[in-house]
Amino acid sequence: MKETGEKGDLFVISAPSGAGKSTLCHRLMEETPGVAFSVSHTTRSPRKGEVDGVDYHFVSKEHFMQMVEQEEFLEWAEVHGNCYGTSRSAVTAMLENGQDVLLDIDVQGAMQVRDIFPESVLIFILPPSLQVLEHRLRNRGTDSEETIRLRMENARGELAAVREYHFLIVNDDLIRAAGDLQSIVLARRCRTRRVLQRHDLSGMIPD
Ligand code: ADP
Ligand code: 5GP
Repeated sequence: MKETGEKGDLFVISAPSGAGKSTLCHRLMEETPGVAFSVSHTTRSPRKGEVDGVDYHFVSKEHFMQMVEQEEFLEWAEVHGNCYGTSRSAVTAMLENGQDVLLDIDVQGAMQVRDIFPESVLIFILPPSLQVLEHRLRNRGTDSEETIRLRMENARGELAAVREYHFLIVNDDLIRAAGDLQSIVLARRCRTRRVLQRHDLSGMIPD
């Protein structure tokens, strides 16, 4: 990919907390070579099993605000009472390297990215219902009652933004939803710009 100068695409994935975004992103990366995940910075504390530098870069509020001042974030937002941001340099390097980049970010961040990269692909993951969403949050067993209440409240606001997105995936059946997500990424690789960057077709197609 690199040799022919193919540039990757940016995929912005949003969803109410608990809809299954992380699960779907992990599956996509396992099953689709050439997809990279942008590891965000956050001031939230790690959940059980989360690894610094893999799931997030866990930083102090002070460190985070320093990065904001130094304009190191492509976008950032306060979500559920914590700060989250996407590293500008990391994303640019992966795209330039020909990788497709996944951003798992909230609606506020998605709108900022859309303004900076109008070609980015915005995908919203929906739970089958609000009841299922609450059930998944509880079942995940990582959040307190207070956190679950706050996340359910915020879900309504996030759902109001679905029409801003290019694609909607209902995450009822995990295998089908993962297939939908992969199809979007693979279809994007067939766009004219990407194919012409990937293959030398100069002998066949006039400039
Ligand atoms: P998010 O990243 O959107 O907050 P997660 O990926 O952590 O959500 O998923 C929330 C919980 O729901 C997890 O326990 C996950 O295993 C479960 N889950 C995800 N997708 C499905 C699905 N299609 N069916 C049933 N459970 C699911
Ligand atoms: P969680 O705490 O459950 O991992 O994530 C909470 C919310 O923050 C999710 O909606 C997630 O998409 C969002 N989020 C994670 N990283 C970023 C980021 O870098 N920027 C923005 N704007 N939102 C993020």
